Amino acid sequence: MLMTGSQYEKSLRKLNLVVYLFGERIVNVVDHPMIRPSMNAVALTYGLAHRPEHTEIMTAVSHITGRRINRFTHIHRSTDDLVKKSKMGRLLGSLTGCCFQRCVGMDALNALSITTHALDASRKTDYHRRFLKFLEYVQENDLTCDGAMTDPKGDRSLAPHAQVDPDLYLRVVERRTDGIIVRGAKAHQTGAVNSHEIIVMPTIAMREADRDYAVAFALPSDAPGITYILGRQSCDTRKLEESTFDRGNLFYGGHEALVVFDDVFVPWERVFLCGEHEFAGGLVEQFASYHRQSYACKVGVGDVLIGAAQTAAEYNGVAKASHIRDKIIEMNHLNETLYCGCIACAAEGHREASGTWMVDTLLANVHKQNVTRFPYEIARLGRWLEKYCRGRADVPAEHRMRILRLIENLTLGAAAVGYLTESMHGAGSPQAQRVMIARGVNMKEKQAAAKRLCGIPEE
Ligand code: SF4
Ligand code: FE
Repeated sequence: MLMTGSQYEKSLRKLNLVVYLFGERIVNVVDHPMIRPSMNAVALTYGLAHRPEHTEIMTAVSHITGRRINRFTHIHRSTDDLVKKSKMGRLLGSLTGCCFQRCVGMDALNALSITTHALDASRKTDYHRRFLKFLEYVQENDLTCDGAMTDPKGDRSLAPHAQVDPDLYLRVVERRTDGIIVRGAKAHQTGAVNSHEIIVMPTIAMREADRDYAVAFALPSDAPGITYILGRQSCDTRKLEESTFDRGNLFYGGHEALVVFDDVFVPWERVFLCGEHEFAGGLVEQFASYHRQSYACKVGVGDVLIGAAQTAAEYNGVAKASHIRDKIIEMNHLNETLYCGCIACAAEGHREASGTWMVDTLLANVHKQNVTRFPYEIARLGRWLEKYCRGRADVPAEHRMRILRLIENLTLGAAAVGYLTESMHGAGSPQAQRVMIARGVNMKEKQAAAKRLCGIPEE
């Protein structure tokens, strides 16, 4: 079943989530003015799937049921699927101008499809069958999943088991015949309160002593014992203002939450990793690589920012000035360079033993690393246009203000030359990608090529 946007909204109303914002419990989550824009953004991932012109990109055919499903619940089966995933990210980014949140769940499903298959092949476990059953449920009901990875981490120099407070990484506190009890938290969870399901994964590679922390599972987002504490965002209280004038983005936004698991029961059928610590690192890498590819979203946001900058230039009567045109060209150059990266890591993908198509890890990391740099340059160029421009007499002042507020919304506030926070910190910090890039490049081969050309013999 492909849900519509309004069916999705209705389905969220049935959830009984425990959500806190500004220190208070929120009873009506869906209609809260600070949360609703983020719900609207996810709703568009449903709405677009029904538009004939977007069917190819927004939907796919399930490899389990053969039925048409939303691409956000699909397991990539080919290079074409991966390329379409990147195009879907750009499309939604350009229509929402924000984070539409649903990628994390898609990336978690794809990573789990690879890891549970590998686990069963080497351990004779039953994880892949359980996973496929869960996947079918998600596909058939067109659910939004939160992919929950980042633990609070406490003292970064200590392994999970060595923390003074053992709950700073999420862990299994009890194994029962019918399931496990888990305790801990996942931080900065994108779109958490707009999700039907929470998919939990470990956050780092682990050793034997950390086996209780090597756990992956999925739970309904309103399972007893789960609490959501919503984080703040730049300019977010603007969403509470009655007039739309200063809101910037009138329709869409994102959200992140701290998700606390206070001794939550998970039935075995929903457990996809439990104690097999050697598989934690691989799962993290697969999820991270998929999610770094997902930053095609920021190319779409770049489209919006470039459109806003061009509009501001026109409003100010400077669109024809050569230095302004040059800046717009540079913004486009940087934005399309980002696009090259997310298409390239998709095009260079390969088949895993499970049948899942995996992105090229090195290129996915290079792409996300570029996303931590180029958008800030794009934003800086856009703000120059804003700063040095005067208004044209035939453009209403209100229109100028609206477009400038949108630029402000996209670049994080009046004084900063920023970009949506997840550009920098989503899918792991820039350093995480640099570590993977260092690991991913074949340095020996490059050195051998250099030595060969200048006549230094192989060692
Ligand atoms: Fe998707 Fe992450 Fe981009 Fe949000 S920031 S739209 S979750 S890839
Ligand atoms: Fe992210």
